[in-house]
Amino acid sequence: MYSNRSEQTRVVIVGGGFAGLAAAKAFAEAPVEVLLLDRNNYHTFLPLLYQVAAAEVDLSQIGFPIRTILRSLDNVDFMMAEVDRMDLESETVITRQGSVPYDYLILATGSEVRFFGIPGAQISTFTMKSLTDGIDLRNHMLVKFEEASQERDEMRRQRLLTFVIIGGGPSGVEYAGALMELIDGPLARDCPNFCVQDARVVLVEATSSLLGTMPQKLGCYSAERLEKMGVEVLLDTAVAEVTPEAVLFTDGTEIDSEMAVWTAGVGGEGIASRSGMQTRPNHTVSVLPTLQLPDEPNVFVAGDLAAFEQAGSFLPELLYV
Ligand SMILES: Cc1cc2nc3c(=O)[nH]c(=O)nc-3n(C[C@H](O)[C@H](O)[C@H](O)COP(=O)(O)OP(=O)(O)OC[C@H]3O[C@@H](n4cnc5c(N)ncnc54)[C@H](O)[C@@H]3O)c2cc1C
Repeated sequence: MYSNRSEQTRVVIVGGGFAGLAAAKAFAEAPVEVLLLDRNNYHTFLPLLYQVAAAEVDLSQIGFPIRTILRSLDNVDFMMAEVDRMDLESETVITRQGSVPYDYLILATGSEVRFFGIPGAQISTFTMKSLTDGIDLRNHMLVKFEEASQERDEMRRQRLLTFVIIGGGPSGVEYAGALMELIDGPLARDCPNFCVQDARVVLVEATSSLLGTMPQKLGCYSAERLEKMGVEVLLDTAVAEVTPEAVLFTDGTEIDSEMAVWTAGVGGEGIASRSGMQTRPNHTVSVLPTLQLPDEPNVFVAGDLAAFEQAGSFLPELLYV
């Protein structure tokens, strides 16, 4: 249906996250045809993902059908498609379902998890970047408590009850706190015969403070608050390797755990690199103040994928919700 060129000017938006949806809404009633593409047919409210992962809120509270969000916009249509890359020369977006030509393109595919080449990190940690990540994490974490309740081998029981969160940025801090709240609250109440007090939540950060991109006093406050809640905060502790049963550190120490959570790094989603575009080391794309690509005036990049420079530094990958 969208594989041919249109009579009307066609704007294609890739990504139904915060930036893509904001762009679609901005075109309401404009004399253009808008097509929004996303690999999922729902939008994820990422700021509350950690609460899904900690079994505090239901997934229906953070996932919203994109078609419902766009329902009132007559000139905006949606297509569920995994976008592989774009061909700037033929002005076409290449998806697994076929090619879609555009007159104007807005790239808003956000960011994706990066593991910095740490051995085992990609296969032996849980990430927190999508709704399915959050659900997997929640299910795995709850199963570990059930397994621990039946485990007779004390060493394995302790390993099952040890949760290591790697990365002391906002997501790691939030998840460590939420996990501790779950353990001290609902789990302690629901499992009175089971020693949830044996559970360990360890937050590991390679630098000397939590929340490194924020004012230092917030990092200090968070560390103090988490420690009061019972979270073990390890600063200046760099991960060397992750295995299914342990997290190993560069100083030679290790923590036995069957659940390591990776919240240590993200970079731009790979669409720009896959399309042969010039990207920064963190895979984001430098844009003009208009969000246009310097050499492609009909291509715009918005949201986490855009490297937007202001007053000498790049804006962080945040909404400020
Ligand atoms: C766990 C977590 C908590 C956060 N908490 C906060 C917070 O409290 N406050 C705050 O300000 N910010 C927070 N952020 C950051 C904030 O969510 C991002 O800055 C924001 O989501 C960026 O919007 P975006 O539209 O660029 O990308 P996203 O919202 O990530 O949307 C990208 C969209 O593109 C789609 N997509 C990606 N690749 C493809 C592809 N190849 N083909 C098709 N579709 C694709 C995805 O499915 C997604 O729908 C948090 C982020 C995370 C991960």
